[in-house]
Formats: sequence, structure tokens, C-alpha cells
Amino acid sequence: MVDHEHDAITVHPPESVAVGREAVRLSLTRALREMGPVRTLRTLGAMNQAEGFDCPSCAWPDPSPGERSHAEFCENGAKAVSWEATRARVTRDFFSVHSVEELRREDDHSLEHHGRLTEPMYLAPGASHYAPISWDDALALCASRLLAMGDANRAAFYTSGRASNEAAFLFQLLARRLGTNNLPDCSNMCHESSGAALNETIGVGKGTVSLEDITEHTDLIIIVGQNPGTNHPRMLSALEEAKRRGARIISANPLPEAGLVRFKNPQRARGLIGRGTALTDLFLAVRVNGDLAMFAGVNKILLERESKDPGSVLDRHFIDTYCDGFADASRAWDELEWGDIEAASGLTRAQIDEVASEVVAAKSVIVCWAMGITQHRNAVATIREIVNFLLLRGNIGRPGAGPSPIRGHSNVQGDRTMGIWEKMPDSFLERLGEELGFEAPRAPGYDTVETIRAMRDGTIDVFFALGGNFVAATPDTAVTEAAMAKCQLSVHVATKLNRSHLVHGAEALILPCLGRSEMDVQASGEQFVTVEDSMSMVHASRGRLAPGSEHLRSEVAIIAGLGEALFGEDLGWRAMRDDYRVIRPHIEKVVAGFEDFEERVEVPGGFTLARPPRDSRTFPTATGKARFTRNPLEAIHVPAGHLILQTVRSHDQFNTTVYGLDDRYRGIEGGRRVVFVNVDDLAQAGLANGDVVDLVSVFDDGERRAPRFRAVAYPTPRGCAAAYFPEANVLVPLDSTALTSNTPTSKSIIIRLERSL
Ligand code: SF4
Repeated sequence: MVDHEHDAITVHPPESVAVGREAVRLSLTRALREMGPVRTLRTLGAMNQAEGFDCPSCAWPDPSPGERSHAEFCENGAKAVSWEATRARVTRDFFSVHSVEELRREDDHSLEHHGRLTEPMYLAPGASHYAPISWDDALALCASRLLAMGDANRAAFYTSGRASNEAAFLFQLLARRLGTNNLPDCSNMCHESSGAALNETIGVGKGTVSLEDITEHTDLIIIVGQNPGTNHPRMLSALEEAKRRGARIISANPLPEAGLVRFKNPQRARGLIGRGTALTDLFLAVRVNGDLAMFAGVNKILLERESKDPGSVLDRHFIDTYCDGFADASRAWDELEWGDIEAASGLTRAQIDEVASEVVAAKSVIVCWAMGITQHRNAVATIREIVNFLLLRGNIGRPGAGPSPIRGHSNVQGDRTMGIWEKMPDSFLERLGEELGFEAPRAPGYDTVETIRAMRDGTIDVFFALGGNFVAATPDTAVTEAAMAKCQLSVHVATKLNRSHLVHGAEALILPCLGRSEMDVQASGEQFVTVEDSMSMVHASRGRLAPGSEHLRSEVAIIAGLGEALFGEDLGWRAMRDDYRVIRPHIEKVVAGFEDFEERVEVPGGFTLARPPRDSRTFPTATGKARFTRNPLEAIHVPAGHLILQTVRSHDQFNTTVYGLDDRYRGIEGGRRVVFVNVDDLAQAGLANGDVVDLVSVFDDGERRAPRFRAVAYPTPRGCAAAYFPEANVLVPLDSTALTSNTPTSKSIIIRLERSL
């Protein structure tokens, strides 16, 4: 990978206001450069509109159709669609000129910048260049390798969060028809911890909050481990609406992210020329992984205040009627020592007391979180403690209250709903088998980390990815790349060239697909697909542009084509490919909550899936009640001279897609190999702002090194550091994962800084 020279990087002070005119300028500049004026108008005008297509970037929900503006997108949504709808093309000539070895030396940004893939490509065993292959031959080759395995569990089917509901449903059907539950997905690396904790405590593995809860009802929003300005930018409009109504916001983050501080809404005059809206009322520079301690401290205070003035703080009726485990959890809070809470959270008792006062003053509270919470060893315990916090005052099951895990990729939540999970419950598998007429396998499959281990150990022959950039997104880059190379065949359905196509199995296929912005026409006519957002809204998405090449196929058509190549016409693969209205009745029968799917999704704006905890205070847990839990504080042991590193995204990237080399909110220009460190920690290590350092992570199984990062003195708590993903993934040990969820601990990596040679 190219090491962008550290001296090309310019560092400015971090910004304290997000969006504004600069965001509009950058959105339009990028869009015009990539797409030209006509495509820019056609795409941006249709994005997130009821009759248009869903933004391929994050999963933030849309307002009701009547309340949408003509520009219902953010800077990053505009970048995402410009990136997808670019006029640049990667043709067979490109591959004949550039060898795999040569392309592998390019960085992630320049690889994707070459443009859209245009036809299926095949890398033969030992070949140096990809060569064109027909669709029929590509699918036949893939089918023959899958059938030759002998054991279906020697294949893994990975899904990225962009896949539509229809594609995801078909993909899990294909894997299970073959006989395996090896369905790793990107959710294993992001909100798996949220699903595990919420399923256990409230009986539903998703958030229970709607957009209106934020904009119209809540009194207090607590944002932890989340950077909405970069990762879910339209959330800032919702927060602004809440603020204008008088709601208050508490933010806890090791980095003072601009989007948490102040927002200049480009759709309002005062957002363009004024100072914008202050968002956060109380900012807490919590230590990395200090959130469990912070919530436990708040819960302890709420309990103490209640015992001093019974009936004034806790919602005893809610606790007694709807919950269990309260007495045990109370004892745990009683036993907590303030010294431990302060050390683990990095906050003072007075700060935590201030949070408790805000909470007691609020009739309804929402907690929003993202990867800053989910990617730690104790992530599930932290989210269980957030649920404890909400239960104490009955903040679930009424307007303006509840847990709100904010999902990263546009349909990552829907993919899970459709059955993309290595351990779907038997009830789902039974319905799937009954509906489609086959016996679905019951043995749990591999998640993402287990898939990498299996590839490393030589027990996976075929790795098939529906979208994504697996080797860049996953931890322990060197281990993962070596594991991929052990596969017999790697297959990637993709819109653009990326690193995972260049770190391949003995032979490899790239199968180019339609993007969200493109029209999908099958034998029965124009199709639409459906997606589910972060707040359980399911709606249609219709591309508007002509496909980037006549050879592109939809994800549905590719999967159905492979199904037909594997099994003939046994499950009606061709009919499902020709008309997606044949797929949706199957979804209706198999997936709970999709009754009358076709009719309800035809309504502009779609429909909301049932959320029993919110809708009726019904908690489908093991006990039928919402569950208080004990969540011991376990501070991460950090050896002297070491720091806890979290991986973060720049403002110029979405997941593994790197649009450019700047991160303007954090003041970085022209490069990505930077590490943000408290100035006193730099001094203690004998380093200065601007020095070039190697990051060395330490784990039970040894050390890992990421060379040549520029040290940037930054306002983050002592003992904490941050560097960009995926560059820092090389430091995340494969076996360092969250308890229960097995999510890589990408937000708590123990490192030391060494001056680069
Ligand atoms: S907030 Fe997310 S879904 Fe909305 S336009 Fe921006 S990137 Fe797309």
C-alpha cells in the first residue's frame, strides 16, 4: 500500500461547527466532477425521495414523504452517489494493461477512483492479469467450484450492508439451499453487540425509536460513541429540530467532534450565513471505553436520589410491572466505588452527577450510539447498562424515549431482518424450508471472525462476497489477507474495483453489479427493491440512471443466476430474477412483520416494522419482561507507556470507501496516516506534535506494527489515541473480540508509539 508521505499532510485546528456552505460547495464540486451536470441533477434530485432511490451510504431514516425537501441528502450522501454514478469506467483494456500485482500497490482511494466495473472478469490460477469472462461462464465456473467442495460448509457467503432486502433474502436462500449457514456480514463488525444486548434485555435486537421521537417528542438525547457529523450527517437536522423545540443534548466522546458541537443547516438561511445551532448542552470527554462506567455511575446516582426521596426519581410502576432483575442490579450499583467509576470513565463524580440531574429533569430520554460503544470487549455489557439506565425511569415504550443504535450502512439492518445471520433461529429456518420446499441447515455457521479463522486454517474453499471490501473492512489485515489467499476461489459482486479483488484466492471472479442509482430492468419490466433504515422503516428504492454498462447485472439477477447454475429451476430462481414481485411473497411468508408486503411497500414512504417494546411495552425476552442486568466494571489494563487506540473514519470516507485524503472537521488535509494523541502523552513518550511514529499494538499473541504515522496533538483524554480505519486495522488482533457478540475490538487497541526509523 502506498504510504502517503507524512510531510504532504497539513494540520489545522479542528473545527467546531459542521456542514454549512463548505459542505454544499464540496458536495456540488464532487458531484459535477464525477457525474457532470445532467447526471448530478438526475441523481441528487431523486436521492431519498419517495419515488427515487435510497442513499447507498448510511441508514439514517427519511422524513415522511410530504415533509421531504428537494435536497434530502447530506455531503456524504452526495459523495457516495457521485462515487457510484461516476462517468469513469474500468474496462477489459484497463485490466489488460494493469497487473494485479501493480494494482495492489495502489491505495484504497485510487483503486476506486478508476471508476465503475463494466463486465465480469476472471483471474485464472497463476495468472497476473484479470481477463474478461462471459456471465454464463462465470456463473458456471462458480457453481462448479461450489459443487466440487463436497461439503457446503467449505463455502462462506459474506454480505455488505448495501444489499437490498430482495438480494439479501435470495442470498441467504442460496447459501442455505446449498447447505450452509456460513453467512458472515458486516453487522458482525458493527452492531452485533447492540443486537446481542437488546435481544437479551428487551427481546428485540434493534432500536425502538422513530425519527419523530427525536424531532417531536424527546426532552433529552444522549449521544455516546457516535460521530453523527461524519457518519450520519442528516441526523444533525433532526437534532437541530429537537433543539429548536427545547430538547437538550448530552454528548460523550473521547474526541470533540464538530458535528456534536454546532450545526449550520444549509437548508436554512441562518445555517448558510449565521452561526448555526449549538447542539450539545453538556459535553463529556469520556475516556475510550469509559461509557459503561459513566452509565453505571448515573444509575448509581439515580438510585441514591430515589432512596433519599422515594417515588421522585425512578418509575416504580414500570419497573414493577414490566421488568425483572432490578434488585440484583441495584445491589451491583450499591457496591460500586466512585474511585473505580472515575478511573474507568475518565469523568469526575460531579460531571456524572450533572448528567443525572439532566436525566431527572427530562420526561423522556433517548440514547443514541454507534461503533464507539459496540467495538469493545465489554460492548454487550455497556449496551446492557444503557438499557438499565433507560428502564430505571421507564424510558422505553412511550414517545420520545428508548434505545437508538444508529446503523452505519444503508440496509445493514434489513439484511439481518432478511435472514443474513449465521445463527438464525430455528423458527425462521423452518418457515424458510416450508415456504421454498427444502430442508434448511440448522447447525450455526461462521460469523466474520470465524470465517477468517476458517480461511486461515484452510477449511474454506470458496469465499463469495455480495458487495463490500472484506479484507479492508476486517481486522488483523495481514492475517486476513493471508487467509483469503488460501481459498480456492474468491468471488466479489461489486460496483468498483477494491483491495479485496486484488488479495484473492487461487482463482478469482469479479462480478459487476448495478448501483442503487441505476435502473433495474428485468424480463417483466422495471423493478424496485426495498430497504430498512435504522428506525425499522421499510421502503422502496428505484434507480433512475441508465446502467453504467450494458453488461451489468442486478445483485438479484446474479444470485438467482448462480442459483439456477447450481440447482436448475428447483426453487424458481428464474422467476424470482425476472420479477421481484415473486420474491416478496416469499419474504412475506418467512419474515415476521412483512404481511401484505407488496401493498404496504407501494405506499410512498413505506411502512414501519413492529417494535413490541415501543408499541405495547411487550418484551419478548426469555422471561417475557424487560431485564435489568449486572454489568461489572472491567477497566482495560493498559501497560505503562501505552495508549488505548480507537479506529475512526475521516470525513472524506464511508466505511472502506475513501473519497479523498482530507478530514476537514478534524483539521487534516492531504493524508490519512495520522494518529491523534493528547499532547501530554506525546511529551511523556519523548515525542512532539508532527513527529513520525510507528504504532505498535500489543496482544497475547504478540505485536503488530503500522509504520509511519504523523503524530497530531489533539484534544483527547490522556491515555487515548485515534487513527483511521482501515489503515489501523492491521493493529487489531483477530482474536481480540467482544464477549458474546464476537465483534472485533477496533475501538480499544492497546498500542505504544515508537519513533519511526
Ligand atoms: S445522512 Fe446518511 S442516508 Fe442520509 S444522505 Fe447522508 S449519508 Fe445518505
